[in-house]
Amino acid sequence: MTSLSAVDPNLRRLIEAHPHLFKNRVPEASSYLTAGWYKVVDELCSRLETVLGADAPAFTVLQIKEKFGHLHFAWRLGQAQDYEALRDRINEIVWTAELAAQLVCETCGAPGKIRSLGGLRTTWCDVHLVDAEARREQAQAERAARAARAAGTE
Ligand SMILES: [Zn+2]
Repeated sequence: MTSLSAVDPNLRRLIEAHPHLFKNRVPEASSYLTAGWYKVVDELCSRLETVLGADAPAFTVLQIKEKFGHLHFAWRLGQAQDYEALRDRINEIVWTAELAAQLVCETCGAPGKIRSLGGLRTTWCDVHLVDAEARREQAQAERAARAARAAGTE
C-alpha cells in the first residue's frame, strides 16, 4: 500500500481533507493531483460527501489523474440504500467536475482550455501554454546541440 507521505502534496492534502471518502488511504491505482485542479476536485469531494451521507462507507475513490488533458476520477460504490439513484447522482457530480476541469489550468487554476503541444494534450491557461512552449523549444535546442556535438566528434 502506498503511504500517504509518498504521494504528491496536493493529493495528500485532498485525502486529509476528505478522510471518509478516501478511508484515509491513497487510491489503489496510481494517482496524482496538480495544484491547479485541487479546488475542482476538492469541491467534487465535498459534493460527494453531502450526497453520500450515511452511505459514505460504501464509496471508494479508485483513481485520480489527468489523461489527455482531462480529469479522470474513478470510483466504486458498494452496497448502498437506493443504490441506482445514488450511483446516478454520483455520476452527475463527477462528470460535472470533469467537464469543469477542462476550463481550468491544471498548473495554476486560472481559466484555461485543452491545448495540444507536440502530441501532449493538457489544460493550460495562456501563461502556462507559453511557458510549456518555451520549455519545449529549449529542450529541442538542447537536443539539436547535443546531436551537433555528437556529429562533430565522429
Ligand atoms: Zn496556468
